[in-house]
Amino acid sequence: MIWNKSIECLDRESMCKLQGERLRSVVERVYHNCAPYRERMQQAGVLPEDIRTIDDIVKLPFSSKQDLRDYYPWGLLAVSRSEIVKIHASSGTTGKPIVMGYTRNDIANWAEAGTRCYAAYGLNKDDVIQVSYGYGLFTGGLGAHDAGLNLGATVIPMSAGNTEKQLLMMRDLGSTALACTPSYALYLAEALEKSGIPREELKLKVGIFGAEPWTEEMRKEIQFRLGIKAYDIYGLTEISGPGVGFECEHQNGTHLNEDLFFPEIVDPKTGEPLPDGVEGELVFTTLSKEGMPMIRFRTHDLTSLTHEKCECGRTLVRMSRILGRTDDMLIIRGVNVFPSQVEAVLCTLEEVEPHFFITVDRINNTDTFDIDVEIKEKFYSDVMSEMERLRKKIAHAIQSVVGIQPNIKPVAPGTIERSQGKAKRVNDKRKFK
Ligand code: ADP
Ligand code: ZN
Repeated sequence: MIWNKSIECLDRESMCKLQGERLRSVVERVYHNCAPYRERMQQAGVLPEDIRTIDDIVKLPFSSKQDLRDYYPWGLLAVSRSEIVKIHASSGTTGKPIVMGYTRNDIANWAEAGTRCYAAYGLNKDDVIQVSYGYGLFTGGLGAHDAGLNLGATVIPMSAGNTEKQLLMMRDLGSTALACTPSYALYLAEALEKSGIPREELKLKVGIFGAEPWTEEMRKEIQFRLGIKAYDIYGLTEISGPGVGFECEHQNGTHLNEDLFFPEIVDPKTGEPLPDGVEGELVFTTLSKEGMPMIRFRTHDLTSLTHEKCECGRTLVRMSRILGRTDDMLIIRGVNVFPSQVEAVLCTLEEVEPHFFITVDRINNTDTFDIDVEIKEKFYSDVMSEMERLRKKIAHAIQSVVGIQPNIKPVAPGTIERSQGKAKRVNDKRKFK
């Protein structure tokens, strides 16, 4: 179902017009109400009247996570503090957390964005949505929660953790949708297999998974193990939270709610805009946000865009699956490696679980690249030659995708720590040297 057809299927010309109007308004507001934005625009020689259409956006200076840290906590507010009704903070995956303030309208718009996602997954007021993203400062839990309320569905505010209770509620309350990180979904699938609860006793049909990169292979794995259809949901605290983007039933890219959050792709090194189809860094400008609008915010997420119309009828721009973040990328012996590439390979090997942990170090001036990989019960053996054969097989499979050979350490089933939120899969010891 399409929740807001007049926006989600709007013709390109009207969408650009709407975006242009909203951009003019937000630029006016930050220029007059927010000194850091004003100073930066003045330095770049841009005045609010220079911004007329959405194409003028490229004249505006970028903003970054560092700005939010420098002006922590309220320096980038564009309204008085008393207009802020709620705050959230980023999960701090890549450093000190940042805080974000929301006005009442900001919360309503964010819920609208999330509801469009849920409707696209085929959910409606009859559904029971189990929200197993963490509640609290993290946007995942309350963001997914408000979208469910706005849809009129029944929301179970489980938060992350307490896995046994998750399964119990899922069965007893007949949850039809599960919202959590893909890595936690996999953990729940595993726990379900061990619990002895037959899958037929569950009513689960839809997964609402995001907050971390996940691959097509991981999607297949989770769909198979939970017997559901798994959809992508994308978002980030600086721009609002989950619901910035979503997959429709065609699962052919993630539609972005571009009337609210305007996306651009730029070259991560030079900041130059890149055309459709070319991978680069995703940049967002919030078009309706009141509390802390973000202008040309550099996400560090790597993807590409397409404006081709989707089979679902939506005209909303689509982005391709996120490979990772520029700050997630490991450079090992000069080769760029993303943890998501390792995940994709491991999901294709029948002998292993997709649980892994990468350790990178520099010893005698050479980078080391070790990966602990969990072997399935059935294939885990005391026979040295058997494990050696497996070790080589995994190393070759990874090398053929990432370009360099890792040192594989096979570990027993269940030994790698399971994540209940965003998975932590890398220890780069070189950072501390
Ligand atoms: P942090 O940057 O501290 O992790 P957030 O909780 O705001 O803070 O997380 C937002 C980030 O999470 C995004 O910038 C992106 O890197 C990642 N992310 C969110 N949803 C997805 C998704 N569906 N696919 C890939 N990455 C995602
Ligand atoms: Zn679509």
